[in-house]
Amino acid sequence: MDQEFFIRKMEKYADEKGIPIMEKEGMNFLTEFIKLNKVKNILEVGTAIGYSAINMALVDDDITVTSIERDKDRYIQAVKNIKNLGLDSRITLILADALDFNTSEEYDLIFIDAAKSQYIKFFNKFATNLKTKGYIVTDNINFHGLTNSDKTKMSRNLRQLITKLERYIDFLKNNDEFKTRFFEIGDGVAISRRRKKKDE
Ligand code: SAH
Ligand code: MG
Repeated sequence: MDQEFFIRKMEKYADEKGIPIMEKEGMNFLTEFIKLNKVKNILEVGTAIGYSAINMALVDDDITVTSIERDKDRYIQAVKNIKNLGLDSRITLILADALDFNTSEEYDLIFIDAAKSQYIKFFNKFATNLKTKGYIVTDNINFHGLTNSDKTKMSRNLRQLITKLERYIDFLKNNDEFKTRFFEIGDGVAISRRRKKKDE
């Protein structure tokens, strides 16, 4: 099937079913980043229906993606989509809670795009699987513009989620090992990289 057409179809499907795939702007930013930095093997936390995994794999023929999803229905849909595009040899899907998934593999890029309340845990867990010069990219840092906004009118759940996200942003800002740059793109993207020296 025509790739472009199939990708549009996935966007429509996600929109109709309310599946939070990456925003177009953020997706383009991430694929450009992968191209520019010659990223070859990627670990993704949060597959949903395979939209971002597919877009990343399509950047170059020698890119491989391993992607973790805990929701069975979404995982099944992702398997179908990836097969449809003939990308099953380059995209490996794992049905598991990411916090239970262990690997000794090392990656050029780790893309965190799953439960926001667990971002710090994902970061700490998978930083051990990052190559020395690799990148950790996190999506939805701005959470629809709600981080750093007035929380008094929000529901308790939403307030707690945003507080956790703000805690993650602080965790990145104050991290001795990683330096993070924040981009106001899509729903907010952060890119973290190991510091060379302490002051860098
Ligand atoms: N990266 C996808 C969108 C992912 S949406 C894209 O842009 O196309 C976030 C997904 O993360 C959801 O499908 C959710 O089920 C999954 N998820 C949330 N917490 C998770 C966890 N702890 N382990 C694995 N998957 C998780
Ligand atoms: Mg996202």
